[in-house]
Amino acid sequence: MLLLGSYPTNLTILFYMENITIPRILCSQCETEINSETKFCTNCGYPENGDEKEKAHFHANKVMKKSQTKDDQKKIKSARKTLYWIAGIFFVSGLFLFFVLKDIPTLIFSAILAAIFLVLAYWSQHKPFAALLSALLLYIMVIALNAIVEPMTIFKGILVKVIILSFLIKGVYSASQNDKD
Ligand SMILES: [Zn+2]
Repeated sequence: MLLLGSYPTNLTILFYMENITIPRILCSQCETEINSETKFCTNCGYPENGDEKEKAHFHANKVMKKSQTKDDQKKIKSARKTLYWIAGIFFVSGLFLFFVLKDIPTLIFSAILAAIFLVLAYWSQHKPFAALLSALLLYIMVIALNAIVEPMTIFKGILVKVIILSFLIKGVYSASQNDKD
C-alpha cells in the first residue's frame, strides 16, 4: 500500500526535475530548444555540451556529408542523362530497323521502350531511387530478352551497354545513399 501510494509522488518529482529545474537552452547550430545538461542536440546532434574535439568532429562530418550529397546528386544526374540516351538509342534503332527491314512491330516496341525510359527519366527527378532502379531492371530485361531471341545481340555494342549499365548502377547506388538521409 505504501509502495502504491508513493509511486505517483515519485513520478511527479521526476516530472518536476525534468521540466522545471533543468534550464533549457537553444542549440547554437539549429536553434532547437534543448535541455542544458544534455550533451547532444536532440534535433541535429550537435555536441552543445561536448568538448572542442567533438565539436570539430561534428563540423567535419557535416562538410563531408555535404560533399557526399553533392557527389551523389552528380551521379544521379548522369544516370538521368543515360536514360535519355537509352530512349534515343531505342528510338533510332527502331527507326533504322523499320526502314531497312520494314519491321513495324520492332518499331512500335522500340518506340514504347523509348517512351518508358523518357518517363522514368522525368520521374527520377522526384523519386530517383525507384525510377533509376526500375530503369536498370528494365534495361537488363531488354538485353536478356534480346539475347534469348538472338544470342549474338548480347555482344552487339557491348561497350555501350557496359557504359550505360555502369552509369545506371552508380546512379541507383547514389540515390539509395541519398534516400537514407
Ligand atoms: Zn541542433
